[in-house]
Amino acid sequence: MTKPSNPSSPTPTPTMGRRSFLRKTSGAAMGLAALNVAQEAAAADAPPPQIRRYRSLGKTGLEISDIGFGSGGCRTADLVRHCYDRGINYFDTAEMYRTEGWSTGEYVEKLIGDALEDKRDKVVIASKYVAEVKHDRAHIMKQLEASLRRMRTDYVDIFLNHAVNEPERMSSPEWQEFVALAKKQGKIRFSGMSGHGGRLQECLDHVLDRDLADVILCSHNFGNDPAFYERFTKHFDMVANQKGISRLFAKARKKGVGVVVMKTQMGAKVNDLSVYQKDGADFARAAFRWVFSDPNIDAAIVSMRNKTVADNYISCSGDETFAARDHDILERYVAEMSNEYCRPGCDACTSSCPEGVPIPDVLRQRMYEERYGNPRMARQGYARLGAAASACSTCTDQACLGSCPYNLEIPKLTRATARRLATS
Ligand code: SF4
Ligand code: SF4
Repeated sequence: MTKPSNPSSPTPTPTMGRRSFLRKTSGAAMGLAALNVAQEAAAADAPPPQIRRYRSLGKTGLEISDIGFGSGGCRTADLVRHCYDRGINYFDTAEMYRTEGWSTGEYVEKLIGDALEDKRDKVVIASKYVAEVKHDRAHIMKQLEASLRRMRTDYVDIFLNHAVNEPERMSSPEWQEFVALAKKQGKIRFSGMSGHGGRLQECLDHVLDRDLADVILCSHNFGNDPAFYERFTKHFDMVANQKGISRLFAKARKKGVGVVVMKTQMGAKVNDLSVYQKDGADFARAAFRWVFSDPNIDAAIVSMRNKTVADNYISCSGDETFAARDHDILERYVAEMSNEYCRPGCDACTSSCPEGVPIPDVLRQRMYEERYGNPRMARQGYARLGAAASACSTCTDQACLGSCPYNLEIPKLTRATARRLATS
């Protein structure tokens, strides 16, 4: 199998905007019922959404769709093909992802291979493995080779050390030697890290200062940015966990490192967003527009759960001007969800628990269950946290209360999570 010089960028397909339709058809003469019927008809007649923008990924020379395929939670190769047909050419996966959660079901990498084997030279594939300091290069190479076999390809474009939260994992001589060897053997083209933990910024500084990455993948959304909160005068605390992340994106851009972001939807419920609409804009569009208002971000990946959700995300491609109505939508979402949403990358509360409960990890499983609608994945993730996670069920002193700068009522949330996700 030959390597692509560069994946091709499908020709954008112009679509008729819903707003332009509304402008043409609304008016005093048209009653509300008629308008609804007309809207539905327009939606049915509209051509399918297509990716409209491709961006350079740092100095890799790769041109990738601005909206990429996040495969965590993907269950069918058909969905992967659907997104390819819509113009997505960037597919992100990981050794860890399974169709039924973290440890059961089919490897999602296999679905990627099933869907894309005959299109290999037209797509960019990124995969990830949790390479720890204790792993030697032979072990990591074995993992990469297993991933390649599952995807039925002889190389991945990008191979990332997955969920890095300790800088040593990136500067480990074994990781470094693995990267050099895998590149020399043509098994990977570019390397880097993904991260969403409390030490994300420290890890990014470490990696960028030492030129240890071609590409970085970071969690990033409007809920992590203090500037977003400062624009309205509600009760939110101004302490923000990812203050300064934009500096790191600018630093990456200066060094030619590709920047891809994830978790852009701030844990939004995938089936419950219709209430967040205003003047033709919706929640996903507003969240993407916020992300792309930072010129140093190359692309965003997002979990594609089904074709309807995927089409909604894809319709946001190339739509990058953040407007006042977008802010209103996000503000409303934050106002309603802020007291429940545990921010990726924050660990401000962890030292408050005398029982050692990994609070952010517990609340991430809660998000997988409640927001992502994946209770099996949540239960498996919860079980991996070990017995300590369930201490909240019987805790009386609740020392963590008040430790969250975002006013999350931690004991209430962690206790409810233990009740729902503990399997024994
Ligand atoms: S509960 Fe609050 S303090 Fe703890 S990690 Fe989540 S957002 Fe941060
Ligand atoms: S409720 Fe108790 S056990 Fe649970 S996180 Fe808070 S302090 Fe720890």
